Amino acid sequence: MAREFPLAKTRNIGIIAHIDAGKTTTTERILFYTKKIHRIGEVHEGAATMDWMAQEQERGITITSAATTCFWQDHRINIIDTPGHVDFTAEVERSLRVLDGGVVVFDGVAGVEPQSETVWRQADKYDVPRMCFVNKLDRTGADFWRCVEMIGDRLTKHALPIQIPIGMESDFKGYIDLLEQKAIVYTDDLGTTSKHVDIPEDLQASYEQHREALIERIAESDEELTLKYLEGEEITKEELIAALRKATIANKIVPVLCGSSLKNKGVQAMLDAVVAFLPSPLDIEIPTGINPDTEEQITREVSDDAPFSALVFKIVSDPFVGRLSYLRVYSGTMTKGGSMENSTKGKTERIGRLLRMHANHREDIDEIRAGDICAAVGLRNTFTGDTLSDPQQPIILESIQFPEPVIELAVEPRTRADQEKMGIALGKLAEEDPTFRVHTDEESGQTIIAGMGELHLDVLTDRLFREFKVEANVGRPQVAYRETITKQAQAQGKHVRQTGGHGQYGDVWLRVEPNETGKGFEFVNGIVGGVVPKEYIKPVE
Ligand code: GDP
Repeated sequence: MAREFPLAKTRNIGIIAHIDAGKTTTTERILFYTKKIHRIGEVHEGAATMDWMAQEQERGITITSAATTCFWQDHRINIIDTPGHVDFTAEVERSLRVLDGGVVVFDGVAGVEPQSETVWRQADKYDVPRMCFVNKLDRTGADFWRCVEMIGDRLTKHALPIQIPIGMESDFKGYIDLLEQKAIVYTDDLGTTSKHVDIPEDLQASYEQHREALIERIAESDEELTLKYLEGEEITKEELIAALRKATIANKIVPVLCGSSLKNKGVQAMLDAVVAFLPSPLDIEIPTGINPDTEEQITREVSDDAPFSALVFKIVSDPFVGRLSYLRVYSGTMTKGGSMENSTKGKTERIGRLLRMHANHREDIDEIRAGDICAAVGLRNTFTGDTLSDPQQPIILESIQFPEPVIELAVEPRTRADQEKMGIALGKLAEEDPTFRVHTDEESGQTIIAGMGELHLDVLTDRLFREFKVEANVGRPQVAYRETITKQAQAQGKHVRQTGGHGQYGDVWLRVEPNETGKGFEFVNGIVGGVVPKEYIKPVE
């Protein structure tokens, strides 16, 4: 069967942004213009959409890292959702690992925010080719050029505006395309119609200056064009576009575009740029892997006929179909109903259904090929970071690095029934999210959950209550301390105090809880064992 879409016409991209920069609105507009949703605002209202979790809407953050497919100019674009909050950097990381290019969205008023720097560095780590979309130019105080300058100062020397905004703040109307040398002004509120206009007189000087800078920068990135440029020969639009594509993919240039997603301006041009400048799966280096039997290093070819290899980048408990494993295929073809090796775990997995997720529906597909992204239903022993591969020619792909959790909370179920439900629920949540850990504290018997930050744990406990209907109290964990008493120490009234671990004869175990100040501890349960008089025990400073 022929490919529905040539690999060269596939884009796997992420919309990367600081929380509130407009990622959700921009994604929503993309889905509107690509005809996947029919009414602007639907993403916020519908059930089967990118941001379907109620709490995401309430909090205004995007947590799920689902992949949604849409089509633009004969290209298939898979949008891999990346969360924008600092507590979810591990989520951002795993999305970055499987996407081929990114659109970084900025708030045209706030410019580069601390969180933009964090995600930018993460994208640098994976060498993700990207472009910038300076959003919210309709807002009072918006300033495209200040934002471009901030990007240049704080993030990259490679930023290059390929558009100039026409008007600003409430008067923001459209843009000048520096490559096409055309001015475009939107003529309706939905941004579906626009017209070409003459370059406004007051922007003529700016246009000339930036057009010249654009030609120079693009020419510099390419040897042949450098020669032409130096000899004063004309460089064609096609040559500029081809060279800009190469330079963007090589991370030598980061094109900067302008717009206002809310006011429906600039999003289609941004999609054009995704197709024109961001890489297809053929343009990127795919991760290498090892043969689990021989430990020999292998690199696969990005081709439908190569042995199958895919990386699982997200596990989601879906309310409709159950456990979904999102995977990015690097090589080969997988068909539904067959089986594959989870080479990381050394287990065979049967592939039930394969789903392609669109904004408003799920499409059952028969097969998935190199370079594409889908969700598989029915994998039982597969977790985020695992490789699925051809059982005859197994490979374990370089996986995703997850940071260790940084904060802990104790969860105490209200009733026995809650206890049981909670066990199952926490198991599921931990399965979905490798940076979320659960254990039982040996000494206090409490269930302890650990994660990347307060918001991270907040979101997960919220899901525990809402989705799994568990009633529980959440608070700071108790800490068990061990007092090692020696005769000498006892004579001096001193104790050696340690957290956790195994005790020995003469040790006293205490349950202590962090006190109100968060700096010291209070002894809640007094002495267990009663070997040491209570007055000997002093709170830790
Ligand atoms: P996210 O947190 O990055 O997903 O941001 P959202 O898309 O939820 O946007 C955050 C807020 O900014 C919302 O109130 C949006 O309506 C608003 N917003 C998004 N894009 C624009 C824009 O282009 N102009 C203005 N004025 N507001 C915008």
